[in-house]
Amino acid sequence: MKRNKSLYERAKKMMPGGVNSPVRAFKNVGGTPLFIERGLGSKIWDCEGKRYIDYVLSWGPLILGHSHPQIIKAVKDSLEKGTSFGAPSEYEIKLAELIIKAFPSIEKIRMVNSGTEATMSAIRLARAYTKRDKIIKFEGCYHGHGDSFLIKAGSGALTFGSPSSPGITLGSAKDTLNADFNDIDSVKKLIRKNKGKIAAVIVEPIAGNMGCVIGDTDFLKELRDITANEEILLIFDEVMTGFRVSYGGAQRIFNIKPDLTMLGKIIGGGLPVGAYGGRRDIMSLISPEGPVYQAGTLSGNPIAMRAGYETLNIMRKDKDFYRKLEAKSRILGEGIKENIKKLNIPLNYAEFNSMSCLYFAKEKVKDFKSALKSDTKKFAAYFKNMLERGIYAAPSQFESVFLSSAHTEKDLEITIKANYESLKSIYF
Ligand SMILES: *Cc1c(COP(=O)(O)O)cnc(C)c1O
Repeated sequence: MKRNKSLYERAKKMMPGGVNSPVRAFKNVGGTPLFIERGLGSKIWDCEGKRYIDYVLSWGPLILGHSHPQIIKAVKDSLEKGTSFGAPSEYEIKLAELIIKAFPSIEKIRMVNSGTEATMSAIRLARAYTKRDKIIKFEGCYHGHGDSFLIKAGSGALTFGSPSSPGITLGSAKDTLNADFNDIDSVKKLIRKNKGKIAAVIVEPIAGNMGCVIGDTDFLKELRDITANEEILLIFDEVMTGFRVSYGGAQRIFNIKPDLTMLGKIIGGGLPVGAYGGRRDIMSLISPEGPVYQAGTLSGNPIAMRAGYETLNIMRKDKDFYRKLEAKSRILGEGIKENIKKLNIPLNYAEFNSMSCLYFAKEKVKDFKSALKSDTKKFAAYFKNMLERGIYAAPSQFESVFLSSAHTEKDLEITIKANYESLKSIYF
């Protein structure tokens, strides 16, 4: 038996679905997940020695590619001084300073260990600050696996056809209201119906967990106005977009100041980190300054802080970092769009800087409902075909494709060609 398959069989005996996070299991596309042995730059190698161009990048964090020499060096240096102290250390401050400088809306910040932890904590904080219980989120937006958020929530939940999860109490579910992404009237309606009861509106300004759906500028600006008028907190979940779409996240691009922001992924440089931050008066409610409890044995872990700091520092020092990344993104996008046109097939391609999604849907995807019109069977066939050609992308229609600074023009050329051949073999 091939090694990927034998490892998968072993894993399945002990771990649910053989994995530690659902979408990794290839369940929706079929086949055996790859067990990855190592990564370098834009490439990964599986346990059978096969090489792939990687567009998953650990689901977003690795914007510099795998095993960036400066990150490895920094991690090694930090590692040799010890792995964890459960006490303050200097790189927590250095990372916080870089983040706060990049995000003017963040005046104070708390580091946690994942995006999920950041969103759960931010909602607790928003409820404490406003003394209200309900939150509004958007169908198809993903905010981690906290109970409050697993109500009609993005890729993982979408892929497995369970819009909300068993095990979530009716009590939690009733406090989460779902609005339609890019539809301000749906938000106004919920606010009207629940006057004085909404603590926060939480949104991915560019939704990356139903593919890649860009928030309309007017929609986001109106969200800001309405929430301010109703004394509702506006929370931007920038776990994916933070330091991805620009150094100051989506909020810099849209020029909108949310009350709270969640970060994760890139700020950990490939190690487990999340963070939430925002207005000083709100953040000051967090323990030990205030009464809202939130803690973590490994929070602010010195190695993770160091990896995050080095990552941001590399990007910050290269004035052309995002311009170069966007140029690559454009080459990939143009190539794929050209292929679609040449083959005359009903697909559409969405992109925002180094995030993108090829939807197997005819019409432009603007929200959850239109994302669901995608042909996931065609996607599965495409995914497998690309994988055989050495292109590793997320095994779900509802995830973004990511680029890193390590991707070369040669990688893009190979990918565009593989895209053409794959689409041709599926459709003709
Ligand atoms: C990945 C992601 C999360 C969850 O982060 P984890 O580190 O996986 O818990 C939350 N929100 C968004 C927008 C994400 O992309």
